[in-house]
Amino acid sequence: MRRYSVFAVAREALRFHAGWGRAWTAPEPKRKYDVIVVGAGGHGLATAYYLGRNFGIRNVAVLEKGWLGGGNTGRNTTIIRSNYLQDPSAAIYEKARSLFETLSQELNYNVMFSPRGLLMLAQTEHEARGYKRTVHANALQGVQTDYIDAARVKALVPIINIEGPRYPVLGALYQPRGGTARHDAVAWGYARACSDMGMDIIQNCEVTAVRSAGGKVQGVDTSRGTIDCDKLAIVVAGNSSVLAEMAGFRLPIESLALQALVSEPIKPAIDVVVMANTVHGYMSQSDKGELVIGGGTDGFNNYTQRGSWHHVEETVRALVETFPIISRLKMMRSWGGIVDMTGDRSPILSATPLGNCFVNCGWGTGGFKSIPGSGWAMAELIAKGAPGPLAAEFGLNRFREGRFIDESVAAGVAH
Ligand SMILES: Cc1cc2nc3c(=O)[nH]c(=O)nc-3n(C[C@H](O)[C@H](O)[C@H](O)COP(=O)(O)OP(=O)(O)OC[C@H]3O[C@@H](n4cnc5c(N)ncnc54)[C@H](O)[C@@H]3O)c2cc1C
Repeated sequence: MRRYSVFAVAREALRFHAGWGRAWTAPEPKRKYDVIVVGAGGHGLATAYYLGRNFGIRNVAVLEKGWLGGGNTGRNTTIIRSNYLQDPSAAIYEKARSLFETLSQELNYNVMFSPRGLLMLAQTEHEARGYKRTVHANALQGVQTDYIDAARVKALVPIINIEGPRYPVLGALYQPRGGTARHDAVAWGYARACSDMGMDIIQNCEVTAVRSAGGKVQGVDTSRGTIDCDKLAIVVAGNSSVLAEMAGFRLPIESLALQALVSEPIKPAIDVVVMANTVHGYMSQSDKGELVIGGGTDGFNNYTQRGSWHHVEETVRALVETFPIISRLKMMRSWGGIVDMTGDRSPILSATPLGNCFVNCGWGTGGFKSIPGSGWAMAELIAKGAPGPLAAEFGLNRFREGRFIDESVAAGVAH
């Protein structure tokens, strides 16, 4: 792989950029791989990358039914934080956040990680108490957060109205090293690094059946033929239940559409990420100047990757009270992605009832931020056949044993 560097850019500028190679290849599927990863979203690609990087397993294929990064990875609002309440969550999200700090250098690909600071507004006494508790928990977990008062919130976010009529801002849970990254670049950076290690990323290749014998996985049938494997990783977010059914087991997952929208571009107005969980809206400003606004999930299970008008209305109405300038902005476009929700709003990284078949799903509305940590933990699970410390609590057996990691109670919102 040609390294990207200032010298390479200068050299190519002199020859009309004719010398760049493809960032990743487009190979035909082989007969057999050591590991097949289904799903070329961020989690699938990161899983493949850390299999190669940490365990030297490089005979790997990542199969994608559409184009890589075209699922939720390319549809999210890119918030990165690790201020979770429960210990297992804080551990895996903080691992991911810390990997984001140097991911551009590691992948030699600019993922535009921007640790601009993240605020979760406290707009009720109950929320304020909850966030103070989270700050104490985070201190014990090694996650740096603070509880800041309303005046500090106003200083950090001048466009905010802290005296809203219904929900005045009382303070905020502040994570100074939280922020955003460019979602496509995260997928593209991992894909390029995987391809460089000799792995095959095969797009337009839908898995249509999982083949097994004697209780162990043997391979998959795809729209591009049958492919064998020793180990199979199912990493398909909102389609997880569909793949699980092919593999002969059920998952405690519901698939729902989650929506987001962007405004017309404006001059720099807000240089932190703000989440208003009581009214349920969150916002940051992209490098292009658009306000990136996230809303809620549909109230019913579905597989549509679309936005809907009532969500746009509800989300904007909720945010206008806290950010009055929004009322003057035109909204440019909205979209949706299919998120995979568990009952305790925590992910599943687990072996499954089918031998040598592993599943990584349940990241729901908040899995972009965890991509590096999830890939790291999933690669360890696949390589060793047993979870390491990061994945240990996220097994499927927790639903049978009642050991829930309840982040829905802890955070109320999970983006
Ligand atoms: C609107 C919205 C806003 C969000 N905001 C945030 C946020 O601010 N911060 C955050 O941390 N998270 C956020 N999320 C959640 C985050 O996007 C997801 O948790 C994360 O991207 C999931 O990544 P993934 O790789 O597991 O799934 P995906 O990116 O969805 O990848 C799964 C891939 O599997 C493929 N696939 C499915 N079935 C098959 C098959 N049969 N054969 C082959 N391939 C198949 C799909 O085509 C897809 O490309 C948001 C999500 C949405 C929708």
